[in-house]
Amino acid sequence: MAKVLVIGGGPGGLFAAAGAAEKGNDATLMEKGKIGENIRCAEGFFDVLKLLGKPCAGVRFKVEALIFEACSIYTFDARSLNLWMIDRSTWQKELARIAIQKGVRIIENSPVLPEDLKNLKSKFDFVIDASGAPSVTSRLMGFSGFYRQNAGKTVQYLIEGDFSHMKNSIKAGFLPDFWGYYWIFPKGLDESGRQTANVGIGDFNPNSRAELRKMLDDVLKKERLDNENYIIRKVLGGICPTRMPEKLVYDNILLVGDAAGLTSPLHGGGIDMAVLSGMAAARAISEDPSIYETHLKKLLCRRLGFENMMAGAWRRRTLEQVDKILSYAHVLRLYRILSHPRLINPMTVKFLELLL
Ligand SMILES: Cc1cc2nc3c(=O)[nH]c(=O)nc-3n(C[C@H](O)[C@H](O)[C@H](O)COP(=O)(O)OP(=O)(O)OC[C@H]3O[C@@H](n4cnc5c(N)ncnc54)[C@H](O)[C@@H]3O)c2cc1C
Repeated sequence: MAKVLVIGGGPGGLFAAAGAAEKGNDATLMEKGKIGENIRCAEGFFDVLKLLGKPCAGVRFKVEALIFEACSIYTFDARSLNLWMIDRSTWQKELARIAIQKGVRIIENSPVLPEDLKNLKSKFDFVIDASGAPSVTSRLMGFSGFYRQNAGKTVQYLIEGDFSHMKNSIKAGFLPDFWGYYWIFPKGLDESGRQTANVGIGDFNPNSRAELRKMLDDVLKKERLDNENYIIRKVLGGICPTRMPEKLVYDNILLVGDAAGLTSPLHGGGIDMAVLSGMAAARAISEDPSIYETHLKKLLCRRLGFENMMAGAWRRRTLEQVDKILSYAHVLRLYRILSHPRLINPMTVKFLELLL
C-alpha cells in the first residue's frame, strides 16, 4: 500500500484518486478551492476513443447533431458519437462522493504551493499532479511557460436565455483569418428550469494577438445573442494545453490531464484525456510507475497524431477552403470516421492528407 497525494479535484485528479484507493493505496486529494466550483469549460464531454461511456452524473443531454458554420452551415449527425453535454459541477461532486466511498481523503480549500510540493514529495510515495495548466510541478521545476507556448487561449460567457431552437445540438463556427473557432454549447434546462449555454471562442495560434473578448462580442451580434433576451451571467477563460511536456514523470510525481498537456490539438477538449490519464496514473503507481508514460502515449498517440494532422491542415486553410472541406465531409460522410475509433489510425491520416 503506497501513500499517494493527488493535487487537484478536477476530472483527472478525481479519477486518479478513486483509482488509487480502489487498488488499495492510501490516497489523499488536496483541492485549492471546492470541488465542482470555478470550472472553466464548455462542458461538452466527448469520449473520442469510446473507452469511457456515459458520465455517471450531470448529463444534460446526448448531443444528436453538430452544427458547423464557415461560409455556409452544415449539420452533421452526431448520434453515433459518445458526446454528451454535462453539468461538470454535478458530475465532479458525484465523482468526489464515489472517491470518498472508496476511501479517498479529500481536503478542500487547500492549495498546494510549489514550495510545499518539495516537502510533500518526500512525505508521500507518489504525487499525482492534476492541478491543470500551468501545473504546480511546472512551477517548482521551472517549465510553467511551456503550457502557454503550446496552448489554445479562450474566453467564454455563460449566457442565460432561450436556446431551445438548438434542440440537442451544439455549434462551432469558423471566422476569416483565424485559426480557432467559436462555440455555442447549450446546457438545456437546469434544476430551477433555467436555460443556459456556454458561448466562447478559442484561438489556437500561440503568436496571435487577437482580442478574443471583442471577437466574442462580435460573435454574439452575428448569432443574435446580443439582445435583452440573453444575459451574460459569467465571464471566464483559460488555456487548453495541446502538447505534452518533455516528461510526464518527475521523480515520484506523475502529471495527468491538463498538467500533462492533454487537450485535443484539434478542438481543445480535454475531459476524456484527463480521465484516461488519471486512470492510467492510478494503475501505474499500483503496478509499475515506469510504465505510465509509455502506456499513456501508446493509448493516445494514434488519436493525437490524427488530430495534429487535421489541425495542421486546418491552420493552412482560408475560410473558403475550410468551407469546402466541411462540404466534402458532409457529402461523403467523412465525419463518420470519428464514430469508429479503430479508423483513427495512420492509414486514415494518409488518406485524409491526400484528400485535404
Ligand atoms: C473555456 C474552456 C472551455 C473548455 N471546454 C471543454 C469542453 O467542452 N470539453 C472538454 O472536453 N474540455 C474542455 N475544456 C478543457 C477542459 O476543461 C480540461 O481539459 C479539463 O478540465 C482538464 O481536467 P484536469 O482534471 O486535468 O484539470 P482541471 O479541470 O483544470 O482541474 C484542476 C483542479 O486542480 C485545482 N488546483 C489548481 N491548482 C491547485 C493547487 N495549487 N493546489 C490544489 N489544487 C489545485 C483546481 O482548482 C481544479 O479543481 C475547456 C477548457 C476551457 C479553458
